Amino acid sequence: MTIDQHVTDSPATPRRKKLAVVGAGMVAHRLVEALVERDADQTWDIEVFGDETRPPYDRVALTSFFNDRDPDDLLLGDGSLWKRPGVRLYRGSVVSRIDREAKVLHARNTTFEYDRLVLATGSYATVPPVEGSDLPGCFVYRTVDDVAELRQWVLDREAALGRKVKGAVVGGGLLGLEAAGALTALGADTTVVEFAEWLMPLQVDRAGGGALRRIIEQLGVSVRTSTATSKLKAGRDGKVTRMQFADGERIAADVVVFATGVRPRDELARESGLAVGERGGVVADPGCLTSDESIFAIGEVAQIAGRVWGLVGPGYTMAEVVADRLLGGTATFEGADLSTKLKLLGVDVASFGDAFAATNGSLEVVYADPTAGVYKKLVMSDDAQTLLGGMLVGDASAYTNLRPMVGRALGSDPTGWLLPEGMEPPGAGAALPDDVNVCSCNNVTAGQIRCAVTDEGCTDLAGVKACTKAGTSCGSCVSLVKKLVDVQLAEAGIEVSTALCEHFAFTRAQLFDIVRISEISTFSELIEQHGTGRGCDICRPVAASILSTLRHGHVLDGENAALQDTNDHVMANLQKDGTYSVVPRIPGGEVTPEGLVAIGQVAVDYGLYTKITGGQRIDLFGARIEQLPAIWRRLVDAGFESGQAYGKSLRTVKSCVGQSWCRYGVQDSTTLAIDLENRYRGLRSPHKIKLGVSGCARECAEARGKDVGIIATDQGWNMYVGGNGGFTPRHAQLFAEDLTTDELVQAIDRFLMYYVRTADRLQRTAPWLESVEGGLDAVRAVVLDDSLGIGADLDAAMASHVDTYEDEWAATLADEAKLAQFVSFVNAPDTPDPDLAYVEERGQRRPADEAERAVLIAGASIPVRPTTEVTA
Ligand SMILES: Cc1cc2nc3c(=O)[nH]c(=O)nc-3n(C[C@H](O)[C@H](O)[C@H](O)COP(=O)(O)OP(=O)(O)OC[C@H]3O[C@@H](n4cnc5c(N)ncnc54)[C@H](O)[C@@H]3O)c2cc1C
Ligand code: SF4
Repeated sequence: MTIDQHVTDSPATPRRKKLAVVGAGMVAHRLVEALVERDADQTWDIEVFGDETRPPYDRVALTSFFNDRDPDDLLLGDGSLWKRPGVRLYRGSVVSRIDREAKVLHARNTTFEYDRLVLATGSYATVPPVEGSDLPGCFVYRTVDDVAELRQWVLDREAALGRKVKGAVVGGGLLGLEAAGALTALGADTTVVEFAEWLMPLQVDRAGGGALRRIIEQLGVSVRTSTATSKLKAGRDGKVTRMQFADGERIAADVVVFATGVRPRDELARESGLAVGERGGVVADPGCLTSDESIFAIGEVAQIAGRVWGLVGPGYTMAEVVADRLLGGTATFEGADLSTKLKLLGVDVASFGDAFAATNGSLEVVYADPTAGVYKKLVMSDDAQTLLGGMLVGDASAYTNLRPMVGRALGSDPTGWLLPEGMEPPGAGAALPDDVNVCSCNNVTAGQIRCAVTDEGCTDLAGVKACTKAGTSCGSCVSLVKKLVDVQLAEAGIEVSTALCEHFAFTRAQLFDIVRISEISTFSELIEQHGTGRGCDICRPVAASILSTLRHGHVLDGENAALQDTNDHVMANLQKDGTYSVVPRIPGGEVTPEGLVAIGQVAVDYGLYTKITGGQRIDLFGARIEQLPAIWRRLVDAGFESGQAYGKSLRTVKSCVGQSWCRYGVQDSTTLAIDLENRYRGLRSPHKIKLGVSGCARECAEARGKDVGIIATDQGWNMYVGGNGGFTPRHAQLFAEDLTTDELVQAIDRFLMYYVRTADRLQRTAPWLESVEGGLDAVRAVVLDDSLGIGADLDAAMASHVDTYEDEWAATLADEAKLAQFVSFVNAPDTPDPDLAYVEERGQRRPADEAERAVLIAGASIPVRPTTEVTA
């Protein structure tokens, strides 16, 4: 037990009242912060007692301790709160008893008087009554100390056993997946064991749980659902070594983490006779007052309106209520938004409002993109006008716009709100009405954010966050807050910050230049030298892309592997049944008969569904993760390379047959397309890039629908830029006419490299051209007339890319360490996942739909449809 280093003695005047806060967690911190801020006359002396040895820290971000190593990075605030006059923090101090009659508490072998007391003791992690759950090697996941011990155990066991540690996590909810991520990050082979039928059953439905499972298994974590853990067994050394299930199956387990739920730490309240709920939690009224009018309860220990509120947001609201009440106010806790948005193992999961469509007559709008591993569902009122709730798995970018709209008319086609990242329907974002709650953790409305700019004089995001607290807790609303602030600043005629995100005060283009002129080769170096904090979903993938472009490292090298998007992790595209698609590069769409035979034979041998893509190549669907290396070995041996269909990089150069075969052709479009594809393959960029080459003005290759389109003329080549398909199709605009092949290649080199250097994240060439000052003409001047004097530099950068290109799959096959991650998630790698079910259609197999699966997996004998047949 130690007195906090930051404690300052502040002689209390007899007139000051004494507030004792029991528990020094997240909610206690918020209470002290709010009270100190509002108590201008310093009417309260505050004493905070925490049994942990650290000052309050961000428990929500506990898992990041595995990355950052230094737990001090998690501390809340800058520590100055604990140096304020009249504030004391006692660390490592257990409050063992409260004497309500005498109004004293017992701690540190002495007693402390109080006028008012706040219970903010949080929860403890529960462990189910499983035999062996107290064996050495069994952990819970609640505090920094838990996590530190777990980490040390894994490292020690790995050293002692001389192999990878086998980890098991009991519980497939939020905490279980966090723990699984932590174990995996430590190098353990991890299995998540969930009693329910799917993962995160409290947040997502069966289909969402299925999507989540597939993504998580793809990351190398095994999952067992509908499984009850019955026993843990020790080895000869007395340490946990095996986990047994109720169905008799067993797995090896050198470390076990229990993440099966929490219970309020209400023992002090019980012992002192306060009213406690049947299922735990100190009963409090909407003013957070317990059955003793001198004692409040807030945070996870409080039971208000008949329930405990297991998230930090409601706890913060309770803290604000009590701060108000202590100063004579009448604030009440009116319930809270229990929406959640999380990043588990790098996978976005969000659920909000009536996510399970419990409202009578509600309608469900579902968007699923199996290629990208995305499942999104909106729950609408029976007239499809009002948003009631939703869930998002794989891509939760819509959460920020959607959550504040719960209970309101969406004002447009609901499907428009589920568009992929970077696209927004009308009415989203900055157009939100003033009374919409934008930050649910801190209860901040769009109007309050606007007022922070118009009335409080804030001139940037950081100022608005400090002023309103919006975006300072879970962080999921930050991009929306930024949008609102930017629009308000622009309306007030104040220059808008172009910072990438709150961790970097630079644009993507400036960050690119910083990396370019430095020797920085990792995200850690970049954020340490030029940013703040730990990074976020915005800056991490941007850094990964920039580092790949400039440092030419393998996508799975070192810490940069963790920054990559989901599909890049396995260099394949996840499909809706959890298998992958394989896309070999076929430059210009030209393939030899032998090449076709090789691809066909691979498809036959592995039972893969084959389809010609719009980019003139062949997509092979249905490969299991552990099959990917063997499939690629065959393809690489046959002369194929990765088509990088998974990356933000060059996709394809589409071409027509041109002069060689076509009687209208005026140039050799196929040869040019092949040369260009081989030149720009592997080039990482802000968004995907596509090219097209047509052999004459008839435009059979649809080149003007591409980022760079080339159309042959009698004199050479016309070059077009800024085309794309998708939600907002754009026709490419004429950039230069009648170029020779050498001139053309140099112009494309410079155009692409200039785009890669200066575009914003997720900005395709069309919006980029619009955003450049001077637009197309200015870019033309840079590329063709070298108006900025950077032509040679752009040329050299592209030459360096071309020289250092390596096929990612060939390099992976030559590297045992990289290959090690392509392991099956099932315990018997050769046994097909029983969840996979296929039907035959038009001579090939495809995943069974829900109705077909129900029959196939249950093993019913009635045929699903007359012509179908089970193939796996
Ligand atoms: C890994 C992890 C991830 C999470 N992720 C999210 C998330 O994404 N979103 C979200 O909203 N919530 C999340 N949570 C939950 C969130 O952390 C809690 O809701 C929040 O911490 C509750 O704050 P609190 O102050 O009530 O309790 P706590 O933060 O638990 O603080 C209570 C403190 O009181 C101390 N204490 C207890 N009894 C005594 C005593 N007798 N004497 C002295 N001290 C005592 C405890 O040791 C503890 O330090 C997560 C939790 C964990 C563990
Ligand atoms: S674009 Fe011209 S050259 Fe190419 S296939 Fe069509 S008609 Fe023939």
